[in-house]
Amino acid sequence: MTNSPFTPGIVPGRLQPEAYEANFADLHEPLDSHEALVAADRCYFCHDAPCITACPTEIDIPLFIRQIATGMPEAAARTIFQQNILGGMCARVCPTETLCEEACVREIAEGKPVLIGQLQRYATDTLMAAGVHPFMRAAPTGKSVAVVGAGPAGLACAHRLAMHGHEVTIYDARPKGGGLNEYGIAAYKTVENFAEAELDWLMKIGGITLETGKALGVDMTLDSLKAEFDAVFLGMGLAGVNALRADGEDKAGVMDAVGFISDLRQAGDLSALPVGRNVVVIGGGMTAIDAAVQSKLLGAETVTILYRRGRDAMPASRYEQDLAASKGVRIVFNAMPVAVLGNGAVTGVRAEYTRAEGKSLIGTGETFDLPADQVLKAIGQTLDGTPDGLTLSDGKIAVTGAGRTGVAGVWAGGDCASGGEDLTVTAVAEGRDAAEDIHKALVG
Ligand SMILES: Cc1cc2nc3c(=O)[nH]c(=O)nc-3n(C[C@H](O)[C@H](O)[C@H](O)COP(=O)(O)OP(=O)(O)OC[C@H]3O[C@@H](n4cnc5c(N)ncnc54)[C@H](O)[C@@H]3O)c2cc1C
Ligand code: SF4
Repeated sequence: MTNSPFTPGIVPGRLQPEAYEANFADLHEPLDSHEALVAADRCYFCHDAPCITACPTEIDIPLFIRQIATGMPEAAARTIFQQNILGGMCARVCPTETLCEEACVREIAEGKPVLIGQLQRYATDTLMAAGVHPFMRAAPTGKSVAVVGAGPAGLACAHRLAMHGHEVTIYDARPKGGGLNEYGIAAYKTVENFAEAELDWLMKIGGITLETGKALGVDMTLDSLKAEFDAVFLGMGLAGVNALRADGEDKAGVMDAVGFISDLRQAGDLSALPVGRNVVVIGGGMTAIDAAVQSKLLGAETVTILYRRGRDAMPASRYEQDLAASKGVRIVFNAMPVAVLGNGAVTGVRAEYTRAEGKSLIGTGETFDLPADQVLKAIGQTLDGTPDGLTLSDGKIAVTGAGRTGVAGVWAGGDCASGGEDLTVTAVAEGRDAAEDIHKALVG
């Protein structure tokens, strides 16, 4: 090892080779069958269960937990996949602490929810490990649908359409399918190439062709898709990145957090991935937390998140904030960057404290400097180009009902569409619901 956490600049190999494997191991060890039975036993199988309502895909949680409790994990997995075909990924990445587990009556009564996410993983992993695909296609309808984007929204839509007997072609600009499951989610939440395995498993339904390296706006237009297919679903996510709007943003060492994470997710050898000695991450969402935690796990000496508002306003949950703190990441609240310092390459970030005045945020005039040789921008993604004829609402494709856009025959869902939180599970729900609506429109 030639480098260490103290080596200046952005360099690879800051840690001993074996440290990478330990640092990027599974965030939660999977439950074994005994632990799953014990966890399932804590469920009260509530009538009108609040956990179901809190789940964007409305999985029948008490039913699947009862199925686990009675020794039928495969049946539990079917219950989950019926509502959420990416139930395996969602079990790993859902912020359950703000969804089902927050609503669980045992969380409210005792501050200790039923481990819904981990039970979901236990059930879905059991069925997937057996190589079983639990659904059959209906008889062919003779209708064809184009899906743009192979992320959670596009995959959920494609799978549901294929189940109904339609022929689906998914186009994705990237070399691999999976969207942010493959390129964005933190490595320690989805170990052992789970995104790729899940995609292969999902495709077993049949009737879906995935064409990678094909971009809407480059290789095809919305009009050409409308002419060739009976319906179009747009699930292209948010491929653009917001600008920092601080002086010196163009200095070497300033990069998008999403690009940094994508490189990390695709790296065959984490020890070859360069990371700064002092890393400053700007933002307050999951991307900021993931970029910061993974920089630290790659061996950065110091990692600081700058967030312009207070702790309670931070989009990343308290659980995520605590995870970051437990890995040695420092979060500075109520501070915003005003300049990136350095001559050519970044050497630091000048930040100013902020205070809220009514709805607006103003600088207090008090500044401080943080040393930095790498600055990661995690200040939100944007729609990258709007297909012709579509209207926008708050920068996203405007939709009504189950993803209907203003253009006949074109639906949209997931991060690129208006409404709903930018979460994997929400994208799945929207893709699935759009597919049901497309199906109704196609078969009458
Ligand atoms: C770093 C990061 C970490 C996250 N962590 C979590 C988490 O832990 N838990 C959670 O619930 N959510 C998390 N999210 C949010 C979650 O990943 C997204 O909400 C979800 O992936 C949205 O799914 P989607 O299908 O709408 O879009 P994406 O997953 O973005 O997929 C869109 C797909 O469309 C393709 N595409 C884009 N433009 C075109 C085009 N012109 N032509 C063809 N294809 C195109 C892209 O290549 C991509 O494959 C995270 C997001 C980021 C950025
Ligand atoms: S709210 Fe909690 S206890 Fe009630 S059904 Fe859901 S998981 Fe079980």
